[in-house]
Amino acid sequence: MKKPVYMDYAATTPVDPVVAEEMCKYLTIDGVFGNPASRTHAYGWQAEAAVEGARRHVANLIHADPREIVWTSGATESDNLAIKGAIPGRENPHIVTSVIEHKAVLDTCTWLEKQGVSVTWLAPGSDGRIGVEQVEKSLRDNTVLVSLMMVNNELGCQTDIASIGAALRDRGVLFHVDAAQAAGKTEVDVSSAPVDLLSLSAHKVYGPKGVGALYVRRSPDVRIESQIHGGGHERGMRSGTLPTHQIVGMGKAFELASEQLEQEKQMLEGIRSRFLAGLDSLEGVTLNGSDSHRVPGIVNLSFAGVDAESLMLGLRNLAVSSGSACSSATIEPSFVLKGIGLDDEQAHRALRFSFGRFSTTEEIDFAATQIVDVVSRLRSVR
Ligand SMILES: *Cc1c(COP(=O)(O)O)cnc(C)c1O
Repeated sequence: MKKPVYMDYAATTPVDPVVAEEMCKYLTIDGVFGNPASRTHAYGWQAEAAVEGARRHVANLIHADPREIVWTSGATESDNLAIKGAIPGRENPHIVTSVIEHKAVLDTCTWLEKQGVSVTWLAPGSDGRIGVEQVEKSLRDNTVLVSLMMVNNELGCQTDIASIGAALRDRGVLFHVDAAQAAGKTEVDVSSAPVDLLSLSAHKVYGPKGVGALYVRRSPDVRIESQIHGGGHERGMRSGTLPTHQIVGMGKAFELASEQLEQEKQMLEGIRSRFLAGLDSLEGVTLNGSDSHRVPGIVNLSFAGVDAESLMLGLRNLAVSSGSACSSATIEPSFVLKGIGLDDEQAHRALRFSFGRFSTTEEIDFAATQIVDVVSRLRSVR
């Protein structure tokens, strides 16, 4: 069976072959398999050197100091560590986030709310963006942290983290940014944007699943409480034996991303334009989220008069995402689409198409043709 065209890069990316090849050198008896924390022999030293090399590559992509990178199991853990870790020792803490964050942030904040933390849930504009004035208005004397994503995983729209960060820095409020969808897709620069904590994931950037990092600013010094206790690895912020092969994979993936960022952005702008041009003959197609402040790789579209479930059934040759979460019996429309003001019906008509490094013009042309055919057919039988 021929596999469907992969158009779900926002869900995960394939590991780049160069990355996979590198990772294999850190597993077996003839490779560097030692425990990076072993200080007494060469096996440990070599593994530690590999981990530190990877740390430099990850730091480099976001213009950080390597000492500001804490390894985690992925952006979910990084989000948990950043948000929960900022709370202890604070009196009557208040945090601010938005209703269109990733579940890793939403559920963490909901859990904290149950523990007695006050949470302000900001609603974005119809373009999916949170404005700096909106954030400023939500601040209180006891606000500890603001957590906002840089690029939304369903819409691709981008938040102005530099301006928001500047407003928070003046008031001494910590700023956490989930940059899982931003790193390697657009410039992320913590040397110019006043961000204190920033979550990263390897598998959205052609690295392996199960590894990520949290950037923790050193100047001014940001202190967070560890959530996983043990051997005191990662300067006490995250215990657990470091998975050398995973970390090396993330390092290589981020090195490649850094080298290819501009070229890849241009390539994806081309893919995006070509895809949208291919749908030109269809009436009633709306783009959800901002069309000016966004990354090129994510396109969220609603098709008037056609629900996403029927459309996906017709598009078996394409691997896309409906953004709807199927919870046991009912299909819940995407909370992100509802968060930008779409009603249930509009939200049920949306599909997310996401492109990446291995997308080709042939695939995009094929996809556009399929979509035009299936939408037209579904509309004609209505
Ligand atoms: C994928 C993603 C995550 C979760 O990352 P994992 O490494 O899979 O835990 C968090 N936030 C955003 C915005 C994401 O896209």
